Amino acid sequence: MKRTVPLLALVSWLLPGASAAQASLVFNFNFTDPSGSGFNDATLGPTRQAALESAASTLAGYFNVAGNVTVTIDAGSGGSGNTLASAGSPIPLANGFQPTVVQDKILTGTDLNGSAADGTMLVNFTQPWFYGNTPVSGSYDFQSVAMHELTHTLGFISEISSTGQGAANQTSGSPDVWSTFDRFLTDSAGNPLVNPSTFAFDTSKLGVLTGGPGSGGMFFSGPNAVAAFGGRVAIFSPNPWQQGSSGSHIDGGPGGYINEAFLMDPSVSSGLGLRALTTTEQGFLRDLGYSVVPEPAATGLISAVGLLLCAAAHRRLRA
Ligand SMILES: [Zn+2]
Repeated sequence: MKRTVPLLALVSWLLPGASAAQASLVFNFNFTDPSGSGFNDATLGPTRQAALESAASTLAGYFNVAGNVTVTIDAGSGGSGNTLASAGSPIPLANGFQPTVVQDKILTGTDLNGSAADGTMLVNFTQPWFYGNTPVSGSYDFQSVAMHELTHTLGFISEISSTGQGAANQTSGSPDVWSTFDRFLTDSAGNPLVNPSTFAFDTSKLGVLTGGPGSGGMFFSGPNAVAAFGGRVAIFSPNPWQQGSSGSHIDGGPGGYINEAFLMDPSVSSGLGLRALTTTEQGFLRDLGYSVVPEPAATGLISAVGLLLCAAAHRRLRA
């Protein structure tokens, strides 16, 4: 019986210790706009910054990470016309399927980009936005779009160009540099667009890049995504090619080939948007190497409401 007290003491000491040491993923933003504009606007700046932090926190809640990982994103104003926002993260220029800097940092703890930011996100603040949880008629859901853009930096992005060239712009049909995402891009029958052994684009598949919507276009054939969706997932492959959008989005939502809304649709309606990763998108992220938590707290209700409000309004492209 003498051992009981020390054991209890040990347990009571371990529990808070274990909780405090729980690994987490944090997005840290450098707000790069000049003083008085964009994220540093005198009036709206603090609201915009807080909304981005909130969206990033929601997204981060989906990931189990091995240690405490801080991803740094340069966030500023950019884009014109119908574009709402864009984002990216560099990849190493070596032939093969490469992770983004953000992806590699989360998966391995290694920082491939040294002291520079791990990714970049640009927002077109000339578009109408709402930043909180209450939709404003005719305005776009900033937090939903921010989650979408940050998911691109995680590696939900293709490096295949309209000519079948990769990130290093080698002659189509030659070994090139691709994203991890590209490893899983196929035609509707599951034939890869990039040869997994030679890292060369299969030039007989050029028509697939603009063969959508439907069975003539691109599909994502990662095993986790296929299992979650119940088949290969159609990828946005319109004709003509849309630079920055083709290949990097699910062909879903109103007007899309798949009659279902996804966070990673190529365009979004005004009103409350999705602020959640669907189970299909969680599958994509598992295929990209992540350990994904199925249901972080407090996203389900917003997601359901968003599905109802997305249907009719004007849609804008987002890169
Ligand atoms: Zn996008």
